Amino acid sequence: MKNEKAIVVFSGGQDSTTCLFWALKEFKEVEAVTFQYGQRHDLEIEVAKSIAKELNVKHHLLDMSLLNQLAPNALTRDDIEIEQKDGELPNTFVPGRNLLFLSFATVLASQVGARHIITGVCETDFSGYPDCRDVFIKSCNVTVNLAMDNNFVIHTPLMWLNKAETWELADKLGQLDFVINKTLTCYNGIMAEGCGKCPACELRNRGLEQYLQVKGENM
Ligand SMILES: [Zn+2]
Repeated sequence: MKNEKAIVVFSGGQDSTTCLFWALKEFKEVEAVTFQYGQRHDLEIEVAKSIAKELNVKHHLLDMSLLNQLAPNALTRDDIEIEQKDGELPNTFVPGRNLLFLSFATVLASQVGARHIITGVCETDFSGYPDCRDVFIKSCNVTVNLAMDNNFVIHTPLMWLNKAETWELADKLGQLDFVINKTLTCYNGIMAEGCGKCPACELRNRGLEQYLQVKGENM
């Protein structure tokens, strides 16, 4: 894969930043794409921009505000509280989001001559979003190839990792400190370790704690 070009679906969070480092190691040329869809915090876009700049990665910003127009939800609206009822999807779920993102990412890939698309979706340790499942990604890969008569490959380096293992991957790539300090995952828009209370922070911080504990035991 070394000689080929890749596009990373990039939000500036822990997962997609780890994927960006992974792609930089695996591919000769890497570009990033961030979708703007009325995220609660403009800071997310700024963080994505500044990471791409620091890593010298060409960064595409695509307006997907129509997603918010179609399906206002807790990720895009300040006046909707984030919550998850037992046995239901959390209300941070945006219907069709990854289907749209991956479709647009492949259209962009065809424009810039990239064959590989990388996304940080993960089936393990996650909220049960249907469009993060491996079966969906595989199906989507077939669909975009049929739609565009192309042979794109969608990569999901985090698919079977839990959060602790995602931290481990960042560490193996030599970027643990970078990902800890320079990414934004928190639903309340606070950098690095975040507010510590929202579901995104809880998952991220618990995973880091677990990873550092295992790492400490093995040293
Ligand atoms: Zn938070």
